[in-house]
Amino acid sequence: MAAATTSTTTTRTHDFAVIGGGLVGSAIAYGLRNSAESIAVLDEGDVALRASRGNFGLVWLQSKGYGMGAYSRWTLGSTRQWPRFAAQLLEETGVDVALEQKGGLTPLMGDYETEARLAWMQKLMAQPGVEPYEWKLLDHHQAADFVPGLGRDVTAAIWTPHDGIVNPLKLLRALHTVFHHSGVSYLPHHGVEKIEQVGGVFEMTTAKGTVRARKIVLASGLRNGALGEQVGLHLPMAPQRGQIIVLERTRPLDAMPMVTLRQNDEGSWLVGDSQEDAGYADHVTTLPVLATLADRAVRTLPALKEVRAVRAWSALRVRAQDGFPVYEQSGSHPGAFIATCHSGVTLAAAHAMTLAPMIAAGALPPELAPFSTRRFHVQTT
Ligand SMILES: Cc1cc2nc3c(=O)[nH]c(=O)nc-3n(C[C@H](O)[C@H](O)[C@H](O)COP(=O)(O)OP(=O)(O)OC[C@H]3O[C@@H](n4cnc5c(N)ncnc54)[C@H](O)[C@@H]3O)c2cc1C
Repeated sequence: MAAATTSTTTTRTHDFAVIGGGLVGSAIAYGLRNSAESIAVLDEGDVALRASRGNFGLVWLQSKGYGMGAYSRWTLGSTRQWPRFAAQLLEETGVDVALEQKGGLTPLMGDYETEARLAWMQKLMAQPGVEPYEWKLLDHHQAADFVPGLGRDVTAAIWTPHDGIVNPLKLLRALHTVFHHSGVSYLPHHGVEKIEQVGGVFEMTTAKGTVRARKIVLASGLRNGALGEQVGLHLPMAPQRGQIIVLERTRPLDAMPMVTLRQNDEGSWLVGDSQEDAGYADHVTTLPVLATLADRAVRTLPALKEVRAVRAWSALRVRAQDGFPVYEQSGSHPGAFIATCHSGVTLAAAHAMTLAPMIAAGALPPELAPFSTRRFHVQTT
């Protein structure tokens, strides 16, 4: 992590304060950096829930947007922006975020899984608002061309050329390195307790004093529900726990990343994709879930049977109740924006290169209307 700047209360009023220094807040602050003279990123301490440090690092399009075509289109846009975003970060910071975007697979085991997934993808692609993109159902042999040593239990796979991976910790580091170089004030231990808008300026009460800004972006992950209430944005959150196993390093296997299994740029492997409704219990791994993940990984790539697990963790996915992103400017507190999403790695490029300029311009365009919190408050009678 980049060097931190500590802070005490000052009379200074920032142009922007971004609340939350995870991947969502950091990507937005990165995108705002050339549009404002003074930006502060307020972050909590090490006790915070931080999905950005516990995720799987996929840049993933397939499977996004079932039930909301606009989300598929938004994700496709981000996957297209990723190569330029990664190149820009490398140039500005020297940090290679290890983007590899040569396609991705969802491995399927047996007819039931295959038929269900195929029908699901077909429905997803037929929705209004979805921009068509290339995808295919592959049989075992076609999938094995992308994954040497693919297990016989994988009878089929869904493939798109748009999917890929990055190293999410390097991504976070690169973004924070830019803060350091570009004068963005990163303020750790500044958990925001209270937000008030006084005469057009937002005053944020933190344990380290009051921070003021003319505009704010709420990007505090799962805390966005509670903070949103303070600026008139009612966002029901629904955390979802994911557990991940890390395997020791091996030589590069040149296997296309899969939604449940990927090799990192330094050779280790991640096994994942469990989804549990476990409230806010993030520091818990459970043997039945880890055993299921491990079993499926070995059936997917039998050579992994010889590879040792070195650690496991769990983290909470930042999800609004329906699982789709939320972007909105408050009607009651103009100048307060909110950004929450379940795929902050995938969408980092869109947040930095598309959303941040919109926020800097002071208004979100109609194309982002589907992502407003209004969808949670539709009357049913
Ligand atoms: C197991 C797992 C696997 C995942 N895999 C992928 C994947 O493969 N691809 C993908 O795209 N996404 C993935 N995700 C999702 C991705 O990690 C999240 O969407 C992303 O990290 C969310 O970032 P965030 O900044 O919104 O939240 P967080 O990372 O939770 O950050 C929130 C930040 O806000 C700060 N904060 C909280 N409250 C306050 C406050 N009151 N004041 C100031 N600061 C505050 C915290 O300190 C924290 O730094 C995964 C998530 C999990 C859990």
